[in-house]
This record gives sequence, structure tokens and C-alpha cells, in this order.
Amino acid sequence: MALIVQKFGGTSVANAERLRNVARIITDTYKQGNSVVAVLSAQGDTTDDLIEKAKEINPNPSKREMDMLLSTGEQISCSLCAMAIEGMGYPVVSLTGWQAGFRTNSGYGNARIKRVLTDRVRDELENKRRIVIVTGFQGINKYDDITTLGRGGSDTSAVALAAALNADLCQIYTDVDGVYTADPRLVPSAHKLEEITYDEMLELATLGAQVLHNRSVEMAKRYNVKLEVLSSFSGKPGTKVKEVVKTMEESHISGVAKDKNIARLALVGLEDTPGIAFKIFSLLAKNNVNVDIILQSIGRSDTKDISFTVAKNDMELAQKLLEDNRDSIQFDHIDVSDNIAKVSIVGAGMINSPGVAAAMFEALFNAGININMISTSEIKVSVLVHISDADRAVQVIHERFYDEFEAAR
Ligand code: ADP
Ligand code: ASP
Ligand code: MG
Repeated sequence: MALIVQKFGGTSVANAERLRNVARIITDTYKQGNSVVAVLSAQGDTTDDLIEKAKEINPNPSKREMDMLLSTGEQISCSLCAMAIEGMGYPVVSLTGWQAGFRTNSGYGNARIKRVLTDRVRDELENKRRIVIVTGFQGINKYDDITTLGRGGSDTSAVALAAALNADLCQIYTDVDGVYTADPRLVPSAHKLEEITYDEMLELATLGAQVLHNRSVEMAKRYNVKLEVLSSFSGKPGTKVKEVVKTMEESHISGVAKDKNIARLALVGLEDTPGIAFKIFSLLAKNNVNVDIILQSIGRSDTKDISFTVAKNDMELAQKLLEDNRDSIQFDHIDVSDNIAKVSIVGAGMINSPGVAAAMFEALFNAGININMISTSEIKVSVLVHISDADRAVQVIHERFYDEFEAAR
């Protein structure tokens, strides 16, 4: 008998028929003698619809009230799923984030899980032998207020619960049957990976592959949670995310990802003296603006330019902070653009394969796509391109790497 945490995403629970399908997956696992905890997302587009509803009432609502509102989506799907399971004659209980013991920091809208107090869930599982359905995406903070974990955060709820319960397996059921070499909706020839390392998955998720919330992967690695991504519709084997995988010599990269949710700021005409970068980036850090790619270039005579990227919703704040501190930083002007996207390749194999980055740039050149900025690490290469080129960039890069890979198989 095993303890299994199963997470079901929004598409998987979108309507009554799909909820019944999910109830079947859960009860089949329970019938085999396992203890089952299911973590659910809100149905379909519920979270987006709730955000719209809030905007109709107040274009600038407080984050606390937003969390109060958004957390309701998950309560609906969980209670309905529990009712479906009741109807099938199995013992079941649904719990909200706070009932299931999720304690977070106070950061409304993007809270971090501090601990999961598992007494209630354990009691339901062990003493009452119930199936436990838990709302994803939410917890409570030290003020006993509801918090949410950031968009896509239900994956992280599931992994956190699996870690706290020391579960044997955490299955992430979604609307594709695993992790692919690129978003299968954008690149139909993308193929499913049987397995992928935590590190590569973390990069892919951070670089825009939304199939897993990046914090869920980070947590799975830290607590050694056995993780599997699979479809709630197909019944096919999914992708295992683990520490070490059998590497295939032929493939240097494990995937291509894109992120359209970024913006670029360029400070033009900075004085070329020590301490400028420190001033800029400490100011942004103090105000919780996360900076990603940074590029410094030589300007004219005694000046230099510094460009960097931030998340799109931090763009205005970053611009304002810099403008407000113009006197101390001293620059000529700021260029701001949110018509950009980041396209990345990820793969642990690339460190030993010279030419991977060049092959990526060649594919973009052949497609006439201009590269704006480049950033590399041991296991990834990212480029900034115009947003209108992003999808095509993913396609041509994928073609460049995987057509060769297919031919070599
Ligand atoms: P859920 O609602 O189940 O959490 P998401 O929409 O968050 O599902 O994530 C699943 C989606 O992620 C897929 O429908 C797919 O379009 C997208 N996706 C992006 N990159 C990848 C990838 N490399 N492999 C699989 N799916 C991906
Ligand atoms: N319902 C939340 C969202 O749409 C959380 C999740 O689905 O993971 O972002
Ligand atoms: Mg998701």
C-alpha cells in the first residue's frame, strides 16, 4: 500500500463529466489499497473569470481581497469532486488550504509555503481511511488570512503536501500526456520525454514551459519527491521527473521553451564609472523587482548602456524607480519595450557539446529572426527576440535539433 498525491489541473476538472473522470482515477487508485490525497485546481478558466469580475468592481483591488476571491475557485472544484466520489460510494472529505494545514508567508498573491501541518490530513487518511481532496493554490498566513501561491501554484501545493506526508509518489495530471521537447500545441512534432532531471525541468519551467509551476520542481528536488506528469484523459504513461536519467547521446537538449511575459529596459548614456550597476540593481532588488538577463555595452565616449529584463508586470515599477532616482544614477534616457519574448533551449548535455548555441543561432538566422540579447548558463541558452517572432523561433529551433535527433535514431 502506498501514499499517493494526485494533482488535477483546471482542464481536467472543467465540467461535470471531467470531474467524474477524475473521481474515477482517484477511486481506482484508492481501490488498489492506496491512501490517496488529490489536490485540485479551479475549473477551466475560473481563476481568469474571477480576476475579470474583480476588475469590474474595482480596477485596483487589494491583494488580500483578491486572494479571498481567487481561493473560492478551488473550493468549488474540490467540493464537487468530493460529491462525485460520495456518489460512487467511497469515503471522502474535501479540505480547504487552511484545513489541510498550509501555512504561508504573508505575501498575498504570490505567497510561499512555510510549512504544511499534516495532522488533519493524516487523521483522515489513517484513522478514517478517507480519500482526501485538497484545494490547490492556497494557504493561510500568520494573520489567519487566505493567501494564494501565484498563478499555476496548485502544482506546488501538491508537491508540498507530498513532501510533508512523505508520499511515495506525486502525480501531476494535466491536459497533455507528459513533458514534451517543446509545447506540443505549438510544435506538433515535439515528442514526449520518458524522463527528465529536476534541474532540466526546473529550467524549462522557469523559462516558460507552464506544464509545471517552477517552484513545484524546486521543492520536488529539495525533498526528493518522486514526480510524474501525465494526462487525465489518455491513460498513457507520462514523464518521470527525477534526479538522474538515462541520457541519450544523440540529444544535447531536452527542450525548447518560450516566455512572453517579460519586458526589457535599457538605460542609455550612463556614466562609465564604478558603482553604477550596483546602484541600479540594488535599487531594484530593494523593491523586490527580479532582474533576469543583464547586458552592458560600451556607449559613446565616456558612457555605457545597461539593458536588462524583468517580468512584464514589474516593468512600470522598474521604470518609475529608475526615473525617480535619475539624479543619483545619472543617465540620458530609458528605453522600455514589452514587445519581446525569451526563447530558450535547455539540456544538461550541452555543456559537453560545443556548437549547440551556434546551431541555435544558425536556425534563427536562417529564419531571418533577429536576436536582441543572449544569455547562457551551463544548461541553457536564452535569446530575446521580437514577440511576433517567438512562436516561429521555437519551431525552427526545435526543428534544427530534433529533426537531426530523429534522423539519428
Ligand atoms: P494544468 O491546468 O493542468 O495545470 P497547464 O495549462 O498549467 O495545465 O499546463 C499544461 C500546458 O502546458 C499544456 O497544455 C501545454 O500547452 C503547455 N506546455 C508548455 N510547454 C510544454 C512542454 N514542454 N511539455 C508539455 N506541455 C507544455
Ligand atoms: N487556479 C490557479 C490558476 O489558474 C492555480 C492553478 O491552476 O494551479 O492559476
Ligand atoms: Mg498548471
